[in-house]
Amino acid sequence: MPVANTLELVRAAQAGGYAIPAVNIVDELSMRAVVEAAEEARSAIILQTSVKTVKASGAEPLSFLASHLADRSSVPVALHLDHCPDRAVITTAIEGGWSSVLFDASDRPLDAARAETAEVCAEAHAAGVTVESEIENIVGVEDGVGSDELTHSYSVPTLLEVAQETGTDLLAPQLGTAHGLYKADPVLRFDRVREIRALSDIPVVLHGGTGLSPADFGEFIAAGVGKINISTALKLAYMKACKAHLEEAERVGKWEPVKMFDQVKLALVTEIGAHIALFGSGGKI
Ligand SMILES: [Zn+2]
Repeated sequence: MPVANTLELVRAAQAGGYAIPAVNIVDELSMRAVVEAAEEARSAIILQTSVKTVKASGAEPLSFLASHLADRSSVPVALHLDHCPDRAVITTAIEGGWSSVLFDASDRPLDAARAETAEVCAEAHAAGVTVESEIENIVGVEDGVGSDELTHSYSVPTLLEVAQETGTDLLAPQLGTAHGLYKADPVLRFDRVREIRALSDIPVVLHGGTGLSPADFGEFIAAGVGKINISTALKLAYMKACKAHLEEAERVGKWEPVKMFDQVKLALVTEIGAHIALFGSGGKI
């Protein structure tokens, strides 16, 4: 099947009481592993690319590979651009076959964020592309984007007014989570998801999921989160599998890259399979 529509996947998840995993991939191997995990579990899946990954691998090869994998997959596969404050890269993704983009305007003052988000929505919607919007910053630096300080925070009514006025499809609010590994226990804002869902039917996206407990994920999904981003967990599984393989290669004196790729892929399929189980999206296709 062709690359899936992100908004349709997330709306189906919210209606069904589960969340779609959106996994930040870093290369072809991780893309293949994430799709394999989704097929094994019969779950729809969103492949996410950071701006850094787009710049490193090239938009055209990434889009080609996502489309190739989606065509051959027995489950829906969407392609999403994660945190992007750069309008030129947004346009590249919209024109390059991405299903959705996160326009990250959290570094702008509210008026500029509002005006530019409306422009991005008009540009994306004309191409059938879904827009996730972030005007409050989610703390933590991810692939060179973001800040460790809370710089912009608004009330839920303000977030919803801006979302409605701009045509935003998916909302990424501050929910007490952070990108990267937690240094202290986060204060999670399930109440904000409930407040948003009581006032609006806009789907809510959870960032900074790595390190949350199964109960935390369950409460966020019950409150109405429909898309959960996973980045750090994949990076950790990837690098730890490489390390384990390389230590063994050194011990036995055998250096075979393809064997390492197989080991990394297996670790990623297991890791993503565990998240699919936590988010309840398995067995829905
Ligand atoms: Zn994020």
